[in-house]
Amino acid sequence: MAGQGSAIVVGGSIGGLTAAIAMARTGVRTTVLECRDSFEGRGGIGVDYRMLCEATGEHPDDSLAYIYGYRRSTSFNALYAWLAEVGSRVEGLELRLGVDVTKVHQDDDKAYAITGSEELAADILIGADGYRSIVRGEVNPDQLLTDYAGFMAWRGWLAESDLPDGTPLPSDDLVSFGFGRQMLVAFPLPGLNNRDLSKGLRTIGFAWHDPTRTRLLEDAGCVRDGKILRGLESGMFPPGLAQEMIGNAGRMWPTPWREAIVECFEQGIAFGTPIGNYLPERMSRGRIGLIGDAAHAVAPATGQGYNSSVEDAIALRDSVRGGVAGSAGPAAMASFERLRLGPAQELVRWSRQWSRTYVGPER
Ligand SMILES: Cc1cc2nc3c(=O)[nH]c(=O)nc-3n(C[C@H](O)[C@H](O)[C@H](O)COP(=O)(O)OP(=O)(O)OC[C@H]3O[C@@H](n4cnc5c(N)ncnc54)[C@H](O)[C@@H]3O)c2cc1C
Repeated sequence: MAGQGSAIVVGGSIGGLTAAIAMARTGVRTTVLECRDSFEGRGGIGVDYRMLCEATGEHPDDSLAYIYGYRRSTSFNALYAWLAEVGSRVEGLELRLGVDVTKVHQDDDKAYAITGSEELAADILIGADGYRSIVRGEVNPDQLLTDYAGFMAWRGWLAESDLPDGTPLPSDDLVSFGFGRQMLVAFPLPGLNNRDLSKGLRTIGFAWHDPTRTRLLEDAGCVRDGKILRGLESGMFPPGLAQEMIGNAGRMWPTPWREAIVECFEQGIAFGTPIGNYLPERMSRGRIGLIGDAAHAVAPATGQGYNSSVEDAIALRDSVRGGVAGSAGPAAMASFERLRLGPAQELVRWSRQWSRTYVGPER
């Protein structure tokens, strides 16, 4: 059955775009509102290509470059560009950049998104607005913020050609290393043009897990009362921190990853992400639903943050085309929650357990 009606998606990153494509393909007119003017992601992401194909109706195999390790990894930028290109060809899908949604609400007839200059209405509204979601306020009003998991990831991303002269090129695979409780995951990724896979033309990403920085995150205003408020950008680093990290990288990590990390801290492009878990009590209420990190944030070690939002997109698609008379509305949103709440809660519980084990009793 084809879907009918209209949808607003708040947040046009990888989760929001995937859901918008999945819904619009059924015939639901879908408008995506993204507050950023352009998209620039940093680093890499392991993607389940089979599920991505199921959600979007397009085969990414030939058009979304990846490095194959124990699974396929691509860069955020390549994935976003791929989704934006697919979305641009889907009838009934409109992506509006530079639109900041300040409030959402609903009544018996419609769901509404208020921006600086207008109020948009649709049959359903999907919050794909990430771990600091404002749409959560309409679905889980008593549970607005994401729980801090007790550790952070230092992250960075640079062109392979920016490695210092003489640094051996990294292997073709994702690698991981441990040093006490510190853990490094590093990987080559498609190049800056989102396509190049040859040595020397790729990019390099890393995520360095560090469970010793809670005080730093609290002092910088990133974490308060066990909840995550924001990420730690390089401009927020206290004096001496970058030098300390450069020293630590030199002691802890092997070549060529050490050089890549040092380069990112020297160039001021390394940043910190407090890791969080968000266990949802609900994923929809009336005409409004949540997907992606807004609905169920998890630790990167699960490798499932984005992949679970692809599952959300598939469930949304099935719900809008199978709801009452195949329409987008409260029945479709209730169906979406029935399909997704249990699996999402299970994923977050696993992530919380992993986080507790990783951080250990010393926290
Ligand atoms: C180190 C690390 C490694 C990871 N590795 C993997 C992996 O290998 N595989 C995997 O599946 N997942 C992985 N993840 C998780 C994955 O990155 C996230 O789950 C995913 O990026 C979340 O996407 P999202 O679209 O839900 O949210 P976001 O990417 O946070 O996007 C939210 C969007 O909403 C916009 N927005 C916010 N508020 C508003 C507003 N009021 N109005 C308009 N727009 C708004 C924002 O600008 C943003 O574009 C990893 C995460 C980390 C930190």
